[in-house]
Amino acid sequence: PVSNQTTLYVRAMADYWPLQDPAIPCADAGLPFKKGEILQIVDQNDVFWWQARKVSDLSACAGLIPSNHLLKRKQREFWWSQPFQPHLCLKSSMFFIGISCYSALAAPYEEVVRYQRHPADRNRLIILVGPAGVGVNELRRRLIASNPREFSSAIPHTTRVQKSYEMNGREYHYVSKETFENMVYSHRMLEYGEYKGYLYGTSIDAVRTVLDEGKICVIDLEPQGIQVARTHELKPYIIFIKPSSISCMRQTRKNARIITDYYVNMKFKEEDLQEMEDSAKKMEAQFGQFFDQVIVNDNLQEASEQLLSAVHRAQDEPQWVPAIWIC
Ligand code: 5GP
Repeated sequence: PVSNQTTLYVRAMADYWPLQDPAIPCADAGLPFKKGEILQIVDQNDVFWWQARKVSDLSACAGLIPSNHLLKRKQREFWWSQPFQPHLCLKSSMFFIGISCYSALAAPYEEVVRYQRHPADRNRLIILVGPAGVGVNELRRRLIASNPREFSSAIPHTTRVQKSYEMNGREYHYVSKETFENMVYSHRMLEYGEYKGYLYGTSIDAVRTVLDEGKICVIDLEPQGIQVARTHELKPYIIFIKPSSISCMRQTRKNARIITDYYVNMKFKEEDLQEMEDSAKKMEAQFGQFFDQVIVNDNLQEASEQLLSAVHRAQDEPQWVPAIWIC
């Protein structure tokens, strides 16, 4: 353990169901948990089975969980048992033995500590993640508009030509393709993509600029970019914007008469709603362990209010963060 914390706390990087684990000595004594949950490790004396409690229920009895060592061994056994099937590579990077969707490349548990930002420290970067159409952009726009002196987005870079009404450094930083590609190769981009033949992306320096001004930087990111952004320097707080159930979305997003201007301009077809739900499920399955907060965007006004209070909590209240950020 690092810092002055003597008890070990970890973030579970996968779900675990003891009743579906044939290896557990006593399934009734197992502690089921979901990815992202914070566990207090009470006993690590056994090589294979640790005892743990959830921090959300510290008054409960401790239960058995597989040790780091056991989970890693299961991963290795799983990999060796797989025939070489290139077309299955993506699917088989997840395996299931009482442990759901466990990425074979990731550590089973991540050691975490409680972190309270000092008022003199930089603000934590706020990352919004969510499927297309769920309103991530709109929520970010509203948050920044609610107090532009407190919140700001990072100015992206692009290789497209500057328009007459635009200013370099205001809408975008306009750079050559070569400069942009150099930034990508030197890992200076948090994310980037191509649109109509031009490159667009957000650099780590652009985020730093906002943080150095003392503001709270709010960006949206494809979930694939989370790992790049999860650094000691940026200490990102990751908020997943989740669509409500399809039946709720049918009401709010298809029936333009009863809703806000935003949804009036964005009419969704049934297949768009289905796609949004499927995409949200995939994001949660693959990246849910990194989400510090989940906000269901059922109603834009309510979701905006929840976002504002989550962002303030992230800056002002103690939060669990990876231990390696703090040592
Ligand atoms: P425009 O050229 O009209 O300003 O932007 C066109 C499109 O570029 C946007 O709709 C968006 O899809 C994409 N874009 C703008 N900024 C970024 C960015 O920072 N990163 C990525 N990946 N795409 C961006």
